[in-house]
Amino acid sequence: MYVQEITLQISPDLDMDLMLDEFNWLMSNFHKNGQVANGGHTQLIVGQKIVSMPFTPEKDSLDAKNHNSHVVKQIERLETLCQSKLQIRTIGTDGTHAEVCNCASSSSHLLGAFCFSRDSAVICGDCRLLIPLYRLPKTEDDSYLSIINWQLSTMVLDGFETINLKNNGVPNISKSHLNAVDKLGFEVCERLEKLTGVKTRLLQTLGNAKLPSFKNGNRKKPGEELFM
Ligand SMILES: [Zn+2]
Repeated sequence: MYVQEITLQISPDLDMDLMLDEFNWLMSNFHKNGQVANGGHTQLIVGQKIVSMPFTPEKDSLDAKNHNSHVVKQIERLETLCQSKLQIRTIGTDGTHAEVCNCASSSSHLLGAFCFSRDSAVICGDCRLLIPLYRLPKTEDDSYLSIINWQLSTMVLDGFETINLKNNGVPNISKSHLNAVDKLGFEVCERLEKLTGVKTRLLQTLGNAKLPSFKNGNRKKPGEELFM
């Protein structure tokens, strides 16, 4: 993953707390559009500037070509309020150097999430690499809210399951919660399949299967049974 630095100069006459809220709304819109990864979008006040350092799947994830209408609208609002331009630059990587799918077209997609992963929830069934969400048709309201919602819910519940393996003191997850997350996952797959015309399968991580991991900069290929 790449680490970006987003900076906005705040004029002294503006209320900093209100501007932090406005800036946070931009980061939320970036997230719901798949342009920044889960977590890690810190927000600092440096002098008269607001600075965020989010993780992104690609070096150019924050380019205007990937913006949706919500991102465009909020950037315009911030720049009008501040009378200054939003500055974005790449400052490094998080060390995983995760590759993304570059297939001209994919014959299948996989929807998967794991408690410690910040990656996109959609994986190419051919090269087994991540597909940044903004490359896919929007699932609702010019965003990917249902995918993000499913992913974050799965990450939390998967984390509970992982902790439970070692610590019996942690309460078990209600079966109804797991069923609700699975139901949402199947609905998201169905929606994606309809929008892309590409077969989309759900990788149920809870309790057993794990997402492929990284080694020496390359994603290990998961077992074939995950794609059957
Ligand atoms: Zn691919």
